[in-house]
Amino acid sequence: MTTTLLMDTIGQYLDRLRLPKAKEILLEVKQLAETQSIGYLDFLERLLSEEVASKEQRRIEFSLKLSGLPYTRTLDDFDFKAAPELDQRQIRSLFDLSFLRDNMNVLFLGPPGLGKTHLAVSLAVKACHEGHSIYFTEMDSLIAKLKSDAAENRPRRGRSYNKSALVVIDEVGYTPLDRHECNLFFRFIKSRYEKGSTIITSNKSFSDWAELAHDPVIITAVLDRLLHHSIVINVKGNSYRLKGKSLKSKEVVQTI
Ligand code: ADP
Ligand code: MG
Repeated sequence: MTTTLLMDTIGQYLDRLRLPKAKEILLEVKQLAETQSIGYLDFLERLLSEEVASKEQRRIEFSLKLSGLPYTRTLDDFDFKAAPELDQRQIRSLFDLSFLRDNMNVLFLGPPGLGKTHLAVSLAVKACHEGHSIYFTEMDSLIAKLKSDAAENRPRRGRSYNKSALVVIDEVGYTPLDRHECNLFFRFIKSRYEKGSTIITSNKSFSDWAELAHDPVIITAVLDRLLHHSIVINVKGNSYRLKGKSLKSKEVVQTI
């Protein structure tokens, strides 16, 4: 076979095998191999490593898009100087993701504007990069989903908000829960117990959770499951959103 014919045939094979990046760079890598006398194995390695990197990049982009994350922020975007009350070492150590491998939960508790959601999002982004499945939801949307699934008698198992290795539930404690909602939330937390990790952010303390719920006994059972294997981070300080602004300003207060 002539070189041109061979290149065409290889291009068709790469198409059929769905290796678009390898096809895209085939000619370039072949020419490089010729000019730099690169061996067969190195040639193949270069072709495949670029294909793998490109597929991995696509997986990450796709997963982040489907994850429900409100934005993608990382720990690098987090300014520890603006959060002097946080234990920087403890926060940084979360990013080794050992909590995820141990199916532990992380709870960020504290007033608004202190970076709880930012940190939870950053952990989810890191987990996604490391190949874990992630799902982000606000508490209100989670409850709405659990209710509609329960009403239609759909199994929760296999649904992405349940099966993901890491589920972030943002803003727990804003809306009171009635008895049915408490029950659904308990079943959800129970189904993930020791099977996956859940990150929760809340502006309420645990005692306030019980007050917000119609059924404090169930909420105690929820906390029992959540806290058994967990890391609780109490976030204190001044709102980052209000940094450099005077709290006396009416305008600022209205934007909180
Ligand atoms: P919370 O969830 O505690 O209410 P957020 O995570 O939503 O707070 O933070 C509010 C805004 O301030 C976000 O845009 C977030 O990225 C930013 N922010 C908060 N704390 C920090 C910080 N220490 N460094 C950088 N950005 C921060
Ligand atoms: Mg938040």
